[in-house]
Amino acid sequence: MTARGNLFIVSAPSGAGKSSLISALLKDKPTDKQVSVSHTTRQPRPGEVNGQHYHFVTVEEFKALIKENAFFEWAEVFGNYYGTSRKVIEQTLNEGIDVFLDIDWQGAQQVKKLMPEAIGIFILPPSRTELECRLTGRGQDSDEIIAGRMAQAASEISHYAEYDFIIINDDFDTALADLIAVIRSQRLTGAGQIHAQNDMIKDLLAD
Ligand code: GDP
Ligand code: ADP
Ligand code: 5GP
Repeated sequence: MTARGNLFIVSAPSGAGKSSLISALLKDKPTDKQVSVSHTTRQPRPGEVNGQHYHFVTVEEFKALIKENAFFEWAEVFGNYYGTSRKVIEQTLNEGIDVFLDIDWQGAQQVKKLMPEAIGIFILPPSRTELECRLTGRGQDSDEIIAGRMAQAASEISHYAEYDFIIINDDFDTALADLIAVIRSQRLTGAGQIHAQNDMIKDLLAD
């Protein structure tokens, strides 16, 4: 019996390191977890690949997808639309694969309503100064966009208490180890183990 995969929601103010943490987690291409590739109307950054980082679409295409009910959740973030495909999530979870959603707090609230068992993880930077340094250091957004994202940071952070786990991304390796610990703990819950160890438990209980 294949246990359904766990759904993890990862949110953070822009620049806190959620994309880096998720990439590090999936670096060795594990077969038991994957990130959901969102649709977005924002322009690709240098080096971003369509279908890999995001599915880049026009506003018209995005609106058509909303009408088709193609999104599990969608939201407007920093003046662009972002959304998670419904079909991919369902299929992947049913295959027993854990899915990571890199989405904002508005999307997180929608997902928690639809799937209360989803596990929310909020990533915090160690300070505002460090957050700004990371946004600048990433070197992919204009000063104006960085200023906009810094202005929104406190508003995103104000939702931290709505999440099940909070990870401070100060030292990267420590934050990654914390993330791995959260994922591992979810596999070890009673509900998870009843599915995963079904045959063994049956055998142990046999007279
Ligand atoms: P980042 O903040 O550097 O990761 O910048 P991005 O442009 O990649 O993402 C902008 C915001 O949109 C972030 O808050 C993401 O978490 C959020 N976001 C990305 N994809 C989705 C999505 O599919 N749905 C929702 N609701 N938010 C998303
Ligand atoms: P997000 O996806 O949350 O917007 P990124 O993963 O793109 O954030 O990280 C923003 C920048 O900060 C990147 O240049 C990344 O290399 C850097 N970064 C991430 N985590 C750390 C860390 N613990 N210490 C220093 N720099 C970091
Ligand atoms: P960026 O444009 O820097 O890639 O992402 C900006 C923000 O959009 C991030 O906070 C990211 O989490 C959020 N985001 C990305 N994809 C989605 C999505 O599919 N849904 C929602 N709600 N937010 C998303």
